[in-house]
Amino acid sequence: MTEAARAVAEGLFVTDGENAVLLGARCEGCGAVYFPRPLSCRNPACHEKRLTAVELPGEGTLISYTVQRYRPPPLFRMDDWAPYAIGLVSLGDGIEVMGMLSGFELDHIAIGSPVRVICAPLYTDDAGAPVHTYQFAPAPGR
Ligand SMILES: [Zn+2]
Repeated sequence: MTEAARAVAEGLFVTDGENAVLLGARCEGCGAVYFPRPLSCRNPACHEKRLTAVELPGEGTLISYTVQRYRPPPLFRMDDWAPYAIGLVSLGDGIEVMGMLSGFELDHIAIGSPVRVICAPLYTDDAGAPVHTYQFAPAPGR
C-alpha cells in the first residue's frame, strides 16, 4: 500500500488504490477463518490456536444490510458525512464480513447482490492526509 492510501487500521487490507484485499487469518487447528485477524483462535473447542494469515476473496454476496441515518459519535470519522449503508457480505466458505457499502442507492439495496471489495477514502487526518477503508461496491453478476 502506498503512503497515499493509508488504511484506517493497520493490517486490515492491502490495496492497489482501487481494489482491496482483506487480510484475515485461518486457524491451523480447526480451520476457522477470522476477519479482522484476532490474537488467537476463538473456538473454545480448538486446542491448536495457531493462526496463518490469509487473503480473503475479493468478491462476495450481500446477505444483510442496514442504513445509518444519524451521525455516529466521535471516534468515527468520515468527510462529508451523509447517511450510508453497512452490509454483511458472505465471501464464501462461511466467511462473513461487515463493511460500508459504496455505489448503492440507499433505498434500492437488494439482498443477494454480488459485491466486490474496494478501497475508498474515508476521512482526512489532522495532518491533511487521506485515510482509506475497505468498502463493498456492486459487482457484475457472477
Ligand atoms: Zn482453531
